[in-house]
Amino acid sequence: MIEEKDRMISEVKEKIESLDNLREVNDLKVLYLGKKGPVNDLTSKLKDLPVEEKKSFGMMLNELKTELNNIFDIKINELETKELNKKLESEQIDITLPGTSIPSGAPNILEKVIEEVEEFFMSMGYDVYDGPEIEEDKYNFELLNIPKGHPARDAQDTFYIEGNEILLRSQTSAVQARVMLEHEGKEPIRMICPGRTYRRDEDDATHSHNFTQIEGLLVEKKDISLSDLKGTFDALAKKLFGEDCVTRFRPSYYQFTEPSVETDISCFACKGKGCSLCKNTGWLTISGAGMVHPNVLRMCGYDPNIWKGFAFGFGAERCAMLKYGISDIRTFYNADLREIANFDRKED
Ligand SMILES: [Zn+2]
Repeated sequence: MIEEKDRMISEVKEKIESLDNLREVNDLKVLYLGKKGPVNDLTSKLKDLPVEEKKSFGMMLNELKTELNNIFDIKINELETKELNKKLESEQIDITLPGTSIPSGAPNILEKVIEEVEEFFMSMGYDVYDGPEIEEDKYNFELLNIPKGHPARDAQDTFYIEGNEILLRSQTSAVQARVMLEHEGKEPIRMICPGRTYRRDEDDATHSHNFTQIEGLLVEKKDISLSDLKGTFDALAKKLFGEDCVTRFRPSYYQFTEPSVETDISCFACKGKGCSLCKNTGWLTISGAGMVHPNVLRMCGYDPNIWKGFAFGFGAERCAMLKYGISDIRTFYNADLREIANFDRKED
């Protein structure tokens, strides 16, 4: 039996040597280890052997099977690796080909300016409020000291949805009136309300029938004065336009504030010397502001003998235009990606 075993092993080793594909190796395996093969023949002899020979014969048989299986496994493994390598070589990726570039987006710069302003005011304890764009005449005009028939309404003519009472808000100040009424004249208020507003303006480079306002309101029992407003505006301007930005107030007139001011920043393009951006004045107007008119406080539930406040408002587009050097307000709404690509990553 030992000779038989060794003979079969060397026979298989010899035959397998010359094979170079998996199919042939499998055929050979079936030939030796299959049902009709010599190993199976030997196995069937086992039952006829005398008991004393059975044990050693059985052990030998197992060794033979194990040895043959090993030989086949090693060869199969070798051929499979060879085949895989061949496949990998033929499928090589040519990394010298240019890839397909996928354009990446960037935050909308108008949103960026609004977020920057929100962050600034939230750091000073202000809340951010939202309000309806379709508004009642009462909140948009009357509670803000602009009764029906007041000439100031002409400058803020808007779109009416239903009769004379329901309109598209011409200013986010309407939200301020709502928030004051909500607080019922009892609590101090620090709020800003960024949002869309509408005017019956002809669209041109600096006007749009639809634009974004950021308004703010502070109401306190303590002595609040114009200097608090000035300090707040100064800090905001430095945050948005840089530490060397200088600010100034000019007297103005609004119905909902008294006294009223227009707020300017020093022109960052010419540092105050005068250029085309600032129309040679050295200053850029940013917002309107003032101390809340006693009538507005009273109509919105706050006793003007106890409470004082300031309010301000400015256009987010105007800010973004100055900050990013955009000359036409329509750029924000025309959705032309080529134009947007010019300025969307200036800071990054
Ligand atoms: Zn200038």
